Amino acid sequence: MLKQKNLIFIGAPGAGKGTISNAMIEHYQLVHISTGDILRAEVAKGTAAGKQAETLMKSGQLVPDELVATMVENRLGKKDCDNGFILDGFPRTIEQAKLLNEALKSTGRVLDRVVYLEVPDELILQRLTARLNCRGCDAIYNKIFMPPQIAGKCDKCGSELYQRADDSLETAKSRLAVFYEQTQPLIDYYKNSNLLLTISKTVIGEIMAELETELNR
Ligand code: AMP
Repeated sequence: MLKQKNLIFIGAPGAGKGTISNAMIEHYQLVHISTGDILRAEVAKGTAAGKQAETLMKSGQLVPDELVATMVENRLGKKDCDNGFILDGFPRTIEQAKLLNEALKSTGRVLDRVVYLEVPDELILQRLTARLNCRGCDAIYNKIFMPPQIAGKCDKCGSELYQRADDSLETAKSRLAVFYEQTQPLIDYYKNSNLLLTISKTVIGEIMAELETELNR
């Protein structure tokens, strides 16, 4: 078990939040709360929330703060989050961080650490445009850096791999710009509350080793 287990992962799209979250939940039975995954599921189901989010997501813009904050609050209220949780891709604005504070209060949860994965822009764009996602499970691959054993198929569940619509070069660049404009201010926000851990490594094994040391202090 980890000593610090209620976590936020902040980073540009493609910084490795999803990949590191998957590795962490496998080792530590934490609940993975990815607002991007939740929204994509809503879009696929054609719900009202999905319809509201779809066009914004396609163009790489953020969906309204209240919409995502409500989804997160509902998820944090579930019993399985007692074991710890990773918020992946939320909060993404200062307003969302404030809404999260309220959600934490109302669900009786306390944040232990905010992990910022810092990755150079060129690597981000290389990673995003070569990223592959599994249709069946949440596994993430990369054509260049982490290819599957059989092209187009998930090593874990055998389902088809696909490229996210928002991982085209043009949309990836817009998402990176949105990150610097709207999400980066959160780094100072959490630095001021002494919760911030910045990791500047890019190799999964090295990031995991640093996280394990830091989160057990
Ligand atoms: P992600 O899978 O985290 O890269 O998110 C994919 C897209 O979902 C983003 O580009 C946004 O359009 C939307 N999204 C995910 N999380 C949030 C959030 N916390 N706030 C607003 N929009 C979000």
